[in-house]
Amino acid sequence: MSSKSGERPLVRTVTARLTLWYCAVFAVPVLAVFTLVYSILARDLNQRVNQDLADDLAEFAELYRTQGLTALQAEFDREAASDGVEVISLVLFGPDLEVRAASDLSSWQGPDTLRPDAVRVPRNSPLIRTIRIPGKTAPARVAVLRLEDGTFLLAAKALDSDRELLASYRRVCAIGLVVMLVSGGLTGWFLAKRAMAGVARVTRTAWQIGASDLGRRVPVGNEGEEIRELAEAFNQMLERIRSLVAELREVSNNIAHDLRSPLTRIRGLAEAALTHSESLDEYRRMAGAVVEECDHLVNLINTMLEIAETDAGATRLARTPVDIRALIEDAHDLFLASAEEAGVQFTCSVPEDASPAVTGDRGRLERALANLIDNAIKYTPRGGTVEVRAERSGEWIHVSVADTGAGIPPDELPRVFDRFHRGDRSRTTAGNGLGLSLARAVVRAHGGEITVVSRVNQGSTFTLRLPALCSPSE
Ligand code: ADP
Repeated sequence: MSSKSGERPLVRTVTARLTLWYCAVFAVPVLAVFTLVYSILARDLNQRVNQDLADDLAEFAELYRTQGLTALQAEFDREAASDGVEVISLVLFGPDLEVRAASDLSSWQGPDTLRPDAVRVPRNSPLIRTIRIPGKTAPARVAVLRLEDGTFLLAAKALDSDRELLASYRRVCAIGLVVMLVSGGLTGWFLAKRAMAGVARVTRTAWQIGASDLGRRVPVGNEGEEIRELAEAFNQMLERIRSLVAELREVSNNIAHDLRSPLTRIRGLAEAALTHSESLDEYRRMAGAVVEECDHLVNLINTMLEIAETDAGATRLARTPVDIRALIEDAHDLFLASAEEAGVQFTCSVPEDASPAVTGDRGRLERALANLIDNAIKYTPRGGTVEVRAERSGEWIHVSVADTGAGIPPDELPRVFDRFHRGDRSRTTAGNGLGLSLARAVVRAHGGEITVVSRVNQGSTFTLRLPALCSPSE
């Protein structure tokens, strides 16, 4: 016996797959929210810079128009000093793009990188673009406005702080995502492990059972209803297998035993004929006895096969309406002579008003009833009675065979329908212990059941319960 758990790849286990699903279910929406917030933040920052630059340009244009170049230069210097010369740069280019006024451009590599493409600057509204300044890590946003006198007013802003803000947002998101994945993964792993513990228990038990230990059962835990049901179903299946194996063992023992006796007898007969028989008559008698023993054997084997096939549903039952009154009356006619011979009073009664009927296989039902009547006559001493009755009870028809015979001891009652079971007191009577098992197999194949009530020395009543055929008026 070996456990396969060590050999399977981890990713193919349900636990690992559930954990991955758990991580994915956590990660996808979180990632979507982070991305959405990031893009909104980036867009807002962008719009805010553009708006600030456009406002600044409008303000400087007004100052230049009303107070002239000197005032504009002074304002450029003041603004650059307050925001930082590396953050902001302000320039007024002439119509030929010569610098007329400018803030400190030392950290912007001079005015050349900022100089606009005059043709592309529209009238009335600023042209806004993003440019890279050599030596700076972050790009800068530049806005240029064409003034009425043909000059160009330019304001540029380094985007370092915005880029840093976005970068730290990305860092926070990445850390959050990793924390969430780790905690989601651990939670998923824990939950999946817990849920699968029951399955693992069932698997372990299945491995441990092997061929010999069918008595072992899966402990029922409290991981949840489904797992409990699985464990219970598994245990039920084990119980069924155990009883089947036990039955199989008993049946094979019984078969071996039941076949051995007639075969030994046949061999004995043949041996006796070989050593002692001298006349043709003696050989004939021997042959007749062998034929009888063979018939008995064939009969036994046929009955065994019939029980097995009926039990397994392998034989197709005929499905025709069977008149129970006719069935009982035929059986009565058949057994009347042997009942008289045995000194047993044999009667039958079926209600006059309606003849109950069932759907089924008449031949097989006949055999089942015959086995019950045969037993009743066989196990009832002289002077006793045997009665067959039929009555309808709702959707069922009850056919009972009651006798006033030997009865069955209570400890034997649960086993009377087992294959090859023969009562201790019946050993001297002819029989093979298959009659009642065949009757039960037939009745069950018809969707019914067979029961027995018995008292030692008072008699037994066997009852067949069969589903009634609905009459057209019902
Ligand atoms: P068989 O009659 O060949 O032994 P059955 O399967 O018909 O086999 O019956 C099984 C056993 O049940 C019998 O050996 C007998 O001990 C008991 N039995 C069956 N029917 C009766 C009955 N009517 N009265 C008493 N015992 C019975």
